[in-house]
Amino acid sequence: MNIPLSQPDITDAEIDAVVSVMRSSRLSIGPSQQEFESLFASYIGVAHAVAVSSGTAGLHLALLALGIGPQDEVIVPSFTFIAAVNAIRYVGADPIFIDIELQTMNLNPALIEAAISARTRAIVVVHTFGLPAEMDSILAIARRHNLFVIEDACEAIGAEYRGKKAGSFGDAAVFAFYPNKQITTGEGGMVLTPHARIERELRALRNQGRYESDDWLQHSIIGYNYRLSEIACAIGAVQMKRIESILGSRKSVAEKYHRRLAGDRRIELPPNTIAGCSISWFVYVIRLHNRYSRLHRDAVLDALGLAGIGCARYFAPVHLQPAYAGLKRMQHLPVSESVGERTIALPFYNHLSDADIDYVYDQLKRALDGLE
Ligand SMILES: *Cc1c(COP(=O)(O)O)cnc(C)c1O
Repeated sequence: MNIPLSQPDITDAEIDAVVSVMRSSRLSIGPSQQEFESLFASYIGVAHAVAVSSGTAGLHLALLALGIGPQDEVIVPSFTFIAAVNAIRYVGADPIFIDIELQTMNLNPALIEAAISARTRAIVVVHTFGLPAEMDSILAIARRHNLFVIEDACEAIGAEYRGKKAGSFGDAAVFAFYPNKQITTGEGGMVLTPHARIERELRALRNQGRYESDDWLQHSIIGYNYRLSEIACAIGAVQMKRIESILGSRKSVAEKYHRRLAGDRRIELPPNTIAGCSISWFVYVIRLHNRYSRLHRDAVLDALGLAGIGCARYFAPVHLQPAYAGLKRMQHLPVSESVGERTIALPFYNHLSDADIDYVYDQLKRALDGLE
């Protein structure tokens, strides 16, 4: 048995699109980039979309384009992928970690105001595991304190909050297309913004500091090469045209897990409905009941691994990572720490078969029985 944790969904249409780019002479900065960007902007419902080489690059550029830098503080959850925090460090700003809500595993808006100082400039809101964060309260706090909102929507393409797509609320929003995400371009990302001025900065920063009016060897600012190739953009454009069917398959896999696992008191299931929201399923993460410890969780991970089942501990909180050991303002984040010890991401992808779901379910039950 070998069931991977995740698997991309590539059809002949993506392969044909790559072949036709390869047969053209345009391998970067061409029509596929334009098509991918405009499909993305209209799907999310935001005026401007800028394709970049990764979600991490997108977060870096979003912070730079908003003028965030040394001396600034940025509020961010710790229970997330490390890139959301690293990007804050890339621009020299200080991450201020906020704890999460137990049910949604998203940052807890009630804790934001106490973390705001005179140096706070922005909130990085992560829509964790494809579940929209509490945007109404977060936007109200940001408005009150004159803070930028950057949505890390890398896990949430297609998720909705009160009828609007995740990624349509912030001053900037970032998506990612690594192969485990809902849609993939191999590597890649997208930054969205409603502001034309920010779009102009993003495009220049992505392309070695060239504004539209600059020629190829004139660099108005210090930029980066964070461009996304035509090959990747062509894959992305095809994936965007299939987005509804991709998200539908993922929802159906999540429902199958739910039906099998519901009622097992040893585990907590991810919320499958939230009032006013629709979830975009990124991963299927269960949590052991809080009478269990990290050791129990690791024993379950080991047992599933031995049974040929790909699984992972999403997420190990960032403030506990060795890379952040030197953080000046150390914080205790009880919910993030407790959740981080007991989560298990199960295999999750579009074409996960019923037989494989049954196998994961049986092996998980056996592993849980082994804990008693
Ligand atoms: C995947 C992800 C990223 C980074 O995306 P890459 O394309 O791998 O650089 C950032 N933030 C979150 C929350 C993610 O899940």
